[in-house]
Amino acid sequence: MLARLFRLHGLLVASHPWEVIVGTLALTVCLMSMNSLATSSQMCSWNECPKVEEVIHSSDIIILTITRCMAIVYIYFQFKNLRQLGSKYILGIAGLFTVFSSFVFSTVVIHFFGKELTGLNEALPFFLLLIDLSKACALAKFALSSNSQEEVRENISQGMAILGPTFTLDALVECLVIGVGTMSGVPQLEIMCCFGCMSVLANYFVFMTFFPACVSLVLELSRESREGRPIWQLSHFARVLAEEEDNKPNPVTQRVKIIMSLGLALVHAHTRLAAEHPAQVRPRTPGSVTDPLSSDVICSSMDLEQVITLGLALLLAVKYVFFEQTETESSLSLKSTIISSPPPQKPRVAADCCRRDLPAPKPPCMMNGTLATSPTSTSSAVSDSKPSPEADTAFRETESLAPTPRSPQSSCCSEARTLEECMAILSDPQRGASFLSDKEVMNLVTSRNILNYKLESVLDTPERGVAIRRDMLSPKLPVRSALASLPYKDYDYSKVMGTCCENVIGYMPVPVGVAGPLLLDEKQFHVPMATTEGCLVASTNRGCRAGGCRSRILADSMTRGPVVRLPSACRAAEVKGWLETSDGFRVIKEAFDHTSRFARLEKLLVSIAGRNLYIRFQSQTGDAMGMNMITKGTEQALHRLQQQYPDVQVLAVSGNYCTDKKSAAINWIMGRGKSAVCEATVPAKVVREVLKSSTAALVELNINKNLVGSAMAGSIGGFNAHAANIVAAIYIACGQDPAQTIGSSNCITQMEAAGPDGEDLYISCSMPSIELGTVGGGTNLLPQQACLQMLGVQGSSSSEPGENARQLARVVCGTVLAGELSLMAALAAGHLVKSHMTHNSVVGLTGCCCILCILCRL
Ligand code: NAP
Repeated sequence: MLARLFRLHGLLVASHPWEVIVGTLALTVCLMSMNSLATSSQMCSWNECPKVEEVIHSSDIIILTITRCMAIVYIYFQFKNLRQLGSKYILGIAGLFTVFSSFVFSTVVIHFFGKELTGLNEALPFFLLLIDLSKACALAKFALSSNSQEEVRENISQGMAILGPTFTLDALVECLVIGVGTMSGVPQLEIMCCFGCMSVLANYFVFMTFFPACVSLVLELSRESREGRPIWQLSHFARVLAEEEDNKPNPVTQRVKIIMSLGLALVHAHTRLAAEHPAQVRPRTPGSVTDPLSSDVICSSMDLEQVITLGLALLLAVKYVFFEQTETESSLSLKSTIISSPPPQKPRVAADCCRRDLPAPKPPCMMNGTLATSPTSTSSAVSDSKPSPEADTAFRETESLAPTPRSPQSSCCSEARTLEECMAILSDPQRGASFLSDKEVMNLVTSRNILNYKLESVLDTPERGVAIRRDMLSPKLPVRSALASLPYKDYDYSKVMGTCCENVIGYMPVPVGVAGPLLLDEKQFHVPMATTEGCLVASTNRGCRAGGCRSRILADSMTRGPVVRLPSACRAAEVKGWLETSDGFRVIKEAFDHTSRFARLEKLLVSIAGRNLYIRFQSQTGDAMGMNMITKGTEQALHRLQQQYPDVQVLAVSGNYCTDKKSAAINWIMGRGKSAVCEATVPAKVVREVLKSSTAALVELNINKNLVGSAMAGSIGGFNAHAANIVAAIYIACGQDPAQTIGSSNCITQMEAAGPDGEDLYISCSMPSIELGTVGGGTNLLPQQACLQMLGVQGSSSSEPGENARQLARVVCGTVLAGELSLMAALAAGHLVKSHMTHNSVVGLTGCCCILCILCRL
């Protein structure tokens, strides 16, 4: 009930931010102007607080200084804590705004009650100590976890529903507890407590109205980023709602607070009533100074106090703004180090930027702020140790991106030499890029003396090239530190260059799980799967536990289908006829086959569309997936065709008749790469105990989902539950071309009842176009090779070319079968679970968000 009330309040405030803000401000102005109506004794009518000027003890000054310093440190730590939530500025500003607005509102309230603001000077530290920025932060987190403005409102109201009752109770308890101080009889304490109560109330008011309205408004105004996504959404807040739901206040604590506040209210009521008797009034002489200290001493003490507090505040502000950033980034870098778990590293070669004109093996040493120069140096290598702002920025930026600290020397090369000098060093075989600083290399890239994409090959090490590319890219990114968590160190870029990727800025670590053992053709395989989809590996693993399976390779040939044009359709038909003769095929095959040791042309499939001719070259490719290989062969064959028919015009070496990386019926019908089939008979007991389903349910589901459902959807080759899931995970782990999961996932899954009593389950998966290899492309990279080695298929087959690739295709097909079994069983069981739930025989199961997750609940 209470939560609903707060939710409604939150929704109202978040939906009408302008009204709330203007209303609050109007109220504030009213309160200020109504000041004249207020009587001077109202505020402290409880205990008649004294004015501050009345009592200035030297001990008071010391206590106040300490309190103020404590308050500043407290606020500083609150900001630091806010930052740990992921945003230095957004939440920091939210906090600052809260402090500011609470302060303004408190002073207005105090002013309204007609009290002199001079007292606030003493109460301010106390007032600051009462501010709890975590409240602002908690509400801001709710708002920031939204994806749209509607969600902002919804989340603020949700936040209000969860946090509102706690805030209210806390404010009440705080007020009552602090209120006790107003009855203490200690003048300083009384005035502080009065201000404290006021500020708690004002604070509460701000939190409940002004703050959520402002958050809602600010987020609405900054709604869309350039990418069309909300700029405020912070992924790590995504679960905030769930977490906060979990972290609801302890009901016991809440009850204690309620009882405590009731007790305190009684104490207050009793004391106030008693205070109405004139006997309770304490004699107080305005303006009396009880301390015998001279006014000079007091003045100097006050000056010293201000210097101390101001100095401390400035120091902490500078630390927060300028130095906390570095700390955060180094902690991020530390994280990335942990993620990539690199072996102990040498300092980056780029750190040897000060090797300018020095013999390579002998890095210069820093001596009294200057660099020691080599006697062999041709130009002055003496450099001022003070870095230029740009160099310093570059250094700090690179430093923040690099997981390991660079040598301090890298910051000393601040003065870049001229482009001519640098080019001379670069082209000097005795010196080369290692004698240039990072800054100088960047200058050469900017002036296009070094091409950005050639950085790895021009520089002394590919890693330095990657690092410099990152350094140059970072300032151009929307988030400057964006690359901090993308690892790049300790990677063998020599295997990447010219083969796998260009313009490299790092590598992407993807979690790799293992499913199995998969018993396939009487052999066990532990299947590596790289995925970020939870439950996928677990699900496949369960499928593997259902028993062994058998597989066969039905065909093995990669295809490339160029398009050529002839002057007329009749001429095209003539060429088609020639290609289909044994002579024509032999001539073309000769040209094709000599391009590789493994490519052997098997077949030409020729189709005509008007005067266009589509020729599908089909060839074995050994252990390679073979697209590059077959493309080379096709190009040679087309040259030969042009010799035979000079009017053949090659439009493209790929005319989409291959068909590569696009869904196409031709691959489904004619096959491409490896065509494999896999089958298994799962005993009824295993269906029941491991798959937790029944043969009848699975067969029925397979017909209605994988066959009829896919037919209804007009699917080509998608007659399965999730073959692509398994194919993609194995492909990423094993260095295959991930785009080829499109054709490779073509699969029809069939299920039948089997066994003497029809309770066993027969399942088969037919996959006509598995495009993969164990040599070439990404299979040359070491981590991918490790995964291939897990399956015993890395590299060229020693027995027969292509055998490793074919074995990998069998493993893919077998693992797909396991995945199909498990997911289909989970889906069927999910259905059963629902019916069980209807009959109340299963307790505690809720609707699922992911079909694989059904497993988790079984
Ligand atoms: P590749 O690395 O280009 O060629 C395989 C190389 O390995 C050939 O040089 C081959 O020798 C040699 N080799 C050594 N032992 C072998 C064995 N046992 N079996 C087969 N070859 C062996 O690899 P690819 O498979 O042809 O191409 C894969 C790359 O092509 C991937 O990076 C993929 O992403 C990319 N791709 C290209 C296209 C395209 O249109 N070009 C399309 C899709 C994907 P030989 O020199 O004697 O043949």
